[in-house]
Amino acid sequence: MSKDHSPHLSTMTLDELLLGGLSPGDEQQARAHLAECPACSRRMASTTNSANRYREQLTEMTLEELRARLEQPRAPKPRRTWRWGLVALGAAAAALGVFLALGR
Ligand SMILES: [Zn+2]
Repeated sequence: MSKDHSPHLSTMTLDELLLGGLSPGDEQQARAHLAECPACSRRMASTTNSANRYREQLTEMTLEELRARLEQPRAPKPRRTWRWGLVALGAAAAALGVFLALGR
């Protein structure tokens, strides 16, 4: 850790370490620093906790939304989707026909 002005890991570095975004060399340096620096170790723990809490809340919200959707079987479904698919298929076939006709 010689290129940084601060002897400690930056918040950015902690985030990148958490997300696995550091290069192997930087990650090794960061982990070595964490192993011997209680201050950064605490910050890393706090960052990890926040990330876990965020993930749990997000998962919980997503699950609740899924449950809500499952409990509404009569939610309006896009029934015309297959028709638009046919229209698109027809248009593609027509375009192919024109292409073949012009190719002759
Ligand atoms: Zn430190």
